[in-house]
Order: sequence, then structure tokens, then C-alpha cells
Amino acid sequence: MKNKKLLTLLGILLLLCFATLTACDKTSTSTPHDTTTSHEHIYTDIVIAPTRTEQGYTVHTCSDCGESYTDNYVRALVSEGLSYTLLRDGTCIITGLGTCTDKEIYIPEQIEGCKVVKIADNAFADTYKKITFIDLPNTLTTIGEKAFYKCTGIKEITIPSSVVSIRANSFECCYNLTTIYYNSEFSHNGQPFNKIQSLEKIVFGGNTVPKDAARNVTNLKTVVILDNVTSIGAEAFYNCTNLTSVTIGNGVTKISYQAFLSCTNLKSVTLGTGLKSIADSAFWNCYSITNIVIPNGVTEIGDYAFAGCNALTNLSLPSSITTIRNGAFFGCIGLTSITIPNSVTLIGELAFMGCHNLTSVSLPDSIEIVGDSAFSECDSLTSFTIPKNMTKIDDYMFDDCRKLTDVIIHDGITVIQADAFTDCESLKNIYYTGTADGWGTISFQKSYYDKCFESATIYYYSETQPTDEGNYWHYDINGIPTIWTQE
Ligand SMILES: [Zn+2]
Repeated sequence: MKNKKLLTLLGILLLLCFATLTACDKTSTSTPHDTTTSHEHIYTDIVIAPTRTEQGYTVHTCSDCGESYTDNYVRALVSEGLSYTLLRDGTCIITGLGTCTDKEIYIPEQIEGCKVVKIADNAFADTYKKITFIDLPNTLTTIGEKAFYKCTGIKEITIPSSVVSIRANSFECCYNLTTIYYNSEFSHNGQPFNKIQSLEKIVFGGNTVPKDAARNVTNLKTVVILDNVTSIGAEAFYNCTNLTSVTIGNGVTKISYQAFLSCTNLKSVTLGTGLKSIADSAFWNCYSITNIVIPNGVTEIGDYAFAGCNALTNLSLPSSITTIRNGAFFGCIGLTSITIPNSVTLIGELAFMGCHNLTSVSLPDSIEIVGDSAFSECDSLTSFTIPKNMTKIDDYMFDDCRKLTDVIIHDGITVIQADAFTDCESLKNIYYTGTADGWGTISFQKSYYDKCFESATIYYYSETQPTDEGNYWHYDINGIPTIWTQE
């Protein structure tokens, strides 16, 4: 018996040697034009990774003669043994692990020629750490109730773009799931992510970030929006109170209504270069943001877009902006100075109301309309120049600007509305660029304004030293209003 075994082994060894020799010989003999003698092949290896449809393998190629062979075959990335149900419409539902023992599950696109479209309710529920990874196919449309309930071994998952339905509890109690790559555009009111306590990061890669996408996902810390995404839906990150960092790709043109409302810990926001509009209340109450660079290309800042951003100290507005809507920077008490680019024609009502620390505002002459109360309660402002192209000073424009002493009013102004300067108790000098006659033609809505105007002096413009007695002013060489003293 022993000898027989030895002989067999010897036989195998001999056979192997012969095989190796013939392999080498084969190269030189099978190629008729190859005149080189057999040599020791020097192989370089290329590893071809498996895909969902093709197996993987390694190609070894001799760099000398080109002879090659393949081995190390690994099966295509499809798990076998999963349980499923075939439906009459030719689709397939995955119902569970079945006999599959893979820790990394690759759900096939097809089983028995039927397209896999759904993960059934409870399919992988309570599998705990048996599964460490799940790859979903691009045929999938529906993820059922508690489909991955308590899959505690999963750390990240990619939701394919084909998915149009996820249930509120699909990923409930996946305690170690920290990252979701979301390529779907399914807008789910059920908010399927807010039950994943561990979820810290979502990377969006679909065409749009859907409405309500991560609303109330209060543990979310990081959001990345890739360049192929074109818009961010309404209330997408509403009340993500632990969100600290958002990077918005260059493909996003629109940030919708209340998209980041009350993301109270949001500190860092990088807006992409493709952005055109920031909708109403988009960043309202994001009171940790310190720095905002609005990209060139944005034409409009929506109503209350940055209202209540208390920590905002650095604000950069591009020269593409034409409209700053109502309340856009309402209550931004961190702002100390603002330079409005000279592309802006309209500043809405209450736009900068309650910016208590604002000491310097520069409004360009392009501005035609400033809405009522736009600068009311800006009680650190000491001077203000009404831009040349404005014709009306609206109601309450400077209401409660208690430190305002100097105002330059251009002679284009035809109307000063009621209460424009209510409680401007320090108002001292009104520098009017026109004449006394011009001032006389202004229509005052005389209700309360006169109280502050009574204590102020109106100066009329005179390029040269005036000859008559009266109150006159001119710009000094530095462009600062200077009162002519009587000679
Ligand atoms: Zn060779």
C-alpha cells in the first residue's frame, strides 16, 4: 500500500515536470516563426477584480516572449444561496440569507432570469454581525420594512439610484452604520435615516438631494454632496442639529427652501461654484456658521436665507448678486461691516434688521430699492449714505438706530416714509446733496419722523464756500462730508 502511494506521488511529480517542460517548449514550437530557444519566463501579473457579472482572475504574462496564462479565479461578486421568491411578473424578491454563509453579501441583479427588485420585509433582520457588508444591485427599487433591522455588522451602505422606496425602519437598529452613500432620488416623508442613531455621514451622488432627505437626522455630522448633484431639495437637512460640516459640489445650482434650517452646529459650509440661488430660509438659524463665501454666479439670496446666523462674522458677497431678499441677514449680530457689490439693485424688507454690531455699511449706487425696516435696530451704525439711485426712504428703514448721527441723502430722494428715522435719538447731521428748495420738494409722511429730524441739522450741498448764511457742506479731499464754517 505504502509503495503504491509513493509511486502515485512520484508519477504526479513527473507529470508536473513534464507539463512544465511542455509548457515552455510549447511556446517555442507552437509559434512557427519563433526561432528563440526555450528560456525561463519572467512573468508580470495583472489582477483582474471580479465584477457583479464576471469572475476575477490573475493574468501572468512573460515580458520576454509574451506567453501568458491565467489562474487565481475568484467568483463574480454575487452571493449564492440567498432565499428568494419569484413573482409572476418576472421579478424577484430577496427574502433572506437562506444558505448563504458570506459575510459580505452581494445581492445579484437577476436570479433565474428574474430581475431582483425588492428586499423583502425583515429579509436580513436580526442577523446581527453575521453580515459585515451588503452590496445592493442597480435593479433594486424597494427596501422593505425592517429589511436590515439590527444588521449590526454593517458600517456603510450604498443605496443605488434605482431605489424608489425605503421604509422608515428599513435600517432601524443598525447600530454601527455610520455612512450612507445615497444615490437614490427617492423623497421619503418617512425619513428613513433618523432612526439610525449611529449615522454620521451621508454622501449624496444622485442627480438631486431629495426633499426631506436627511430631515431630523440629528446625529449626522458630515454631508458631502458630489459634483454630479444639481440641486438640494427643500428641508433636506432641516434640524440636523449636530451637522458640523457640509461640502456642496460644483454641480449644485439651487439650494431650496429651508434646506439647512436650524442646523445649529453647522460651522463649515463650502458652497460649490455652480450655485445660482439660495432659497428662502436656507440657512436660517444656523447660528454657528462664522464664515460664508457666496460663489460668483449667485444672483439672489432668498428671504431669511441667513437670518439668525449669529456667529457669522465674515460674509463675502459676489458681484453677480442682484437681489437680497427680505430678512436675508436679519439678526446677524456677528456682522460688523458689509460691502454690498454694485450689482445689487434691491435690498428687501428687514434685510439687515437687528444686526446690532454693524458699524459700517457700504451701499453702491446700483441700489434702487431698500425695503422697509431694512436697517432698523442696527444700533451700532453711526453714519449712512443713501445710494444715489434710490428715490424713497421706506418706513422704519433706520428705526431704532440709536447711534446714527450722520446721514447723506441724495437729491434723487422724493419720498421719506413715515417712521423712517424713528428713535434715531443721536441723529445730528443730514447732508443733503441738493438745495434747500430741493429739500422742500421731498414728500415727508409726517407722523413720527419729525421728532428726530427736529434735533438734526439739514445741510445743503455747496461745492464752494457759500456766500450766504445757512447750513452748507461739501466733501473734503478724502470724500468725507465736511460742514462749511462761516467766514
Ligand atoms: Zn517567456
